[in-house]
Amino acid sequence: MTAVTTATGFAEPTPSAALLLLGQKADLASERGVECPGALPAPDDPGLVERARAAKEALGDRVFVLGHHYQRDEVIQFADVTGDSFKLAREAAARPQAEHVVFCGVHFMAESADILTGDHQTVVLPDLAAGCSMADMAAIEQVEEAWAVLTDAGVSARTVPVTYMNSTAAIKAFTGRHGGTVCTSSNAQVALRWAFEKVGGLTGDGKVLFMPDQHLGRNTAVEQLGLTLEDCVVFDPRKPGGGLTVAELEAARMILWRGHCSVHGRFSVQNVTDVRSRVPGVNVLVHPECKNEVVAAADLVGSTEFIIRALDAAEPGSAWAIGTELNLVRRLAATHPELTVHYLDSTVCFCSTMNRIDLPHLVWTLESLVEGRVPNRIVVDPEDARWARAALDQMLALPGV
Ligand code: SF4
Repeated sequence: MTAVTTATGFAEPTPSAALLLLGQKADLASERGVECPGALPAPDDPGLVERARAAKEALGDRVFVLGHHYQRDEVIQFADVTGDSFKLAREAAARPQAEHVVFCGVHFMAESADILTGDHQTVVLPDLAAGCSMADMAAIEQVEEAWAVLTDAGVSARTVPVTYMNSTAAIKAFTGRHGGTVCTSSNAQVALRWAFEKVGGLTGDGKVLFMPDQHLGRNTAVEQLGLTLEDCVVFDPRKPGGGLTVAELEAARMILWRGHCSVHGRFSVQNVTDVRSRVPGVNVLVHPECKNEVVAAADLVGSTEFIIRALDAAEPGSAWAIGTELNLVRRLAATHPELTVHYLDSTVCFCSTMNRIDLPHLVWTLESLVEGRVPNRIVVDPEDARWARAALDQMLALPGV
């Protein structure tokens, strides 16, 4: 199990995941802690930018601020480096001299940073409410039960777990314990090929248990590996036996966890049709966390880093419709005035948990560190960290990663 500690550690975990008011109480067990001991600056404080700058300057090299691509501009301006979750974890690991790593992203990313950084470093998440709905869709107890179902069905010995970076440390540890690998949206194809090779290759009867994003798993298997939609089954942890028969498990090649991203899962084929009729010649570029029918209707699919590179290399004057998180698309539109950049669906909005990290929380975090207090420290259980590290190291050992 993972553990989350705060500098003061006052709140008892609450029994339910009730919605908590910002800055009051905490639910550390469900990663929804929102307590900010001391004064959380008011959002309309006109001195926030100056306070953040002064605190960061006072900390100097002792602090390293990471900013995920989906973060707000007001936070990104203070990031020492920006990137996707994998790049940021690697950047954190490459800064052993930084005493504190402030992770402007979500909880599972800060966990990975804690796993990859040294014991002398602390990893801090400015708001513990910044979780990830996708990561929350796979609890370790559910995954252990699912493995028992696969074992009872006689298929677990021919199954390799592959977990997306967007999962808790406990799921990564499960994956490491069972000889699997972590993957990202950039290297999912390589990771799946490696996993299938372990169990007889793509044409054999071996299987991959892919967690927690069914869409990334399906898109990679079908669009990049040449498997069929019929080769994929969805394991629903809320149903007995995952909602699958032994025969279905036996016939499957990809056993997809029933999880999805609440942002990317909302894009639809209708969005693609609409933008094509509104903007002739538009290039539709979507993230692989989108549904398979959306990916199939798009022109290009790729990770956030791929999307950024594609727009950097785009022909001036070309038009693009992007299906990923809104903060990133807005920033791309602002940095590429030579292009016409559309958001694929104007009704899909920001990642709400990413947006929990705002300037007041960043100021509060940096000023706390200046005062010698370490708030919202993310600490992964050592045993989980050991096995999660094995799964992360396996990913780093994949060809071309
Ligand atoms: S965009 Fe989706 S996968 Fe990424 S943090 Fe938000 S909910 Fe999780």
